[in-house]
Amino acid sequence: MVKVDLAVTGGELLTMTDRGTVPSGTVLVSGQRIIAAGPESELPPYEAVETLDARDQVVMPGFSNCHTHIGSNVLLRGLNEDAKLFEWLQSMWRLKKNFDFETLRLASLAGLAEMALAGITSFNEHFDAYSVSPELDALKTVPLRATLGYGFADIGLYADVGPWAYEALDRFGEIVAEQHQSHGGRLRVALSPHATYSCTEQLWRRCAEVAAEHDLTIHTHLSEGLQEYRYVADTHGVTPTAWLHQLGLLGPNLTAAHCTTLTDDDISLMAEHDVKVAHCPISNAKLCSGIMPIRKLREAGVTVGLATDGPASHNTLDMFQEMKFGAITHKNHHLDPELLTVDEMLEMATREAARAMHLPEAGSLAPSQVADIIVVDINKLHCAPRYDASAALVYSSRADDVVHTVVDGQVVVKDRRLIGVDVAALLEELRDRAAALRTRSGV
Ligand SMILES: [Zn+2]
Repeated sequence: MVKVDLAVTGGELLTMTDRGTVPSGTVLVSGQRIIAAGPESELPPYEAVETLDARDQVVMPGFSNCHTHIGSNVLLRGLNEDAKLFEWLQSMWRLKKNFDFETLRLASLAGLAEMALAGITSFNEHFDAYSVSPELDALKTVPLRATLGYGFADIGLYADVGPWAYEALDRFGEIVAEQHQSHGGRLRVALSPHATYSCTEQLWRRCAEVAAEHDLTIHTHLSEGLQEYRYVADTHGVTPTAWLHQLGLLGPNLTAAHCTTLTDDDISLMAEHDVKVAHCPISNAKLCSGIMPIRKLREAGVTVGLATDGPASHNTLDMFQEMKFGAITHKNHHLDPELLTVDEMLEMATREAARAMHLPEAGSLAPSQVADIIVVDINKLHCAPRYDASAALVYSSRADDVVHTVVDGQVVVKDRRLIGVDVAALLEELRDRAAALRTRSGV
């Protein structure tokens, strides 16, 4: 008899491996890892400390949100709609100058809670040059898997954080020693130079040096629309991607978010250097940043994962919306309904998104993978009748159809209830603090 910590039993398994779907199967978890996933007939006799009954439900790897900004962006959600990108960034910046620890901690907690309840088990955070510590604190309460990218900038809108950025980079070894691989190994730190229009050549090169020194990943915004494209062309005479290539930044440790405005040469450079792309279709459409050349990127062999971006631009931390919108926007743009199948969308939200944030050990249900697992109820009016689980998940399901969320072998959401957080009290406190922040920022 094998003793396991957790068994998720009797569900339809979407393995996200070559095995595909198992109509009725069980996932066994020991500690932080999956030890088996398949039909009961294939499993060893086992005894589980905890069992989640998933009969009639779908069991799949949790979503990896490979580009987001939670703490700051939760506080900006719904505040400045219908604005141009650079105007929008400006008013966000006024609020950001007035952030305080407790307001950010509550906002981070709200973002983590929203993601956990929506089946997002790992996320790639890009901090826009403000304090990381409130989110570190919130991650103790809602223990998702996180890569926290320290945000850096030194020109333009963010020029006044320049001195801080260089200081932080000089002492990054201390940050790595303290935080990297902490929280039971669930937490990693990364470097997040903001964008080509907010960082100088000197800052990019410094980030590359520090990343190489500590073997860290780099997570940035790249080629997010024509304004950036023209700025880099005017300033450096090349495309944003070519400029980063000149600076030696393109490599397998780089996650580039957005990438809507790419030339064929840019795409070749990205493929050649195994750059990972975080695709945020809703944010791109809402901010009119253009349409990412997804077909060309995928044909070139570039890893493309789906991501929500921050709630300031996407508004919800909901990968179901991202799958649906991503599929239909590219189908419509290419006038090709066969482009991006439901299975491809699910892969881009799980396995490929995990790879895009440098977590190849997540995103599929297979032995030795980390136990980041969700159970989704598709027995809903908006999914009925039940023909095809993948179609239901991509086109009909909603975040609140997620029943259970397991991260690193730990049940974080059970029967739609987030363990350890009083959500109603959190909402009330956040509402009051956000109102005070808005008043003192004059926005
Ligand atoms: Zn972003």
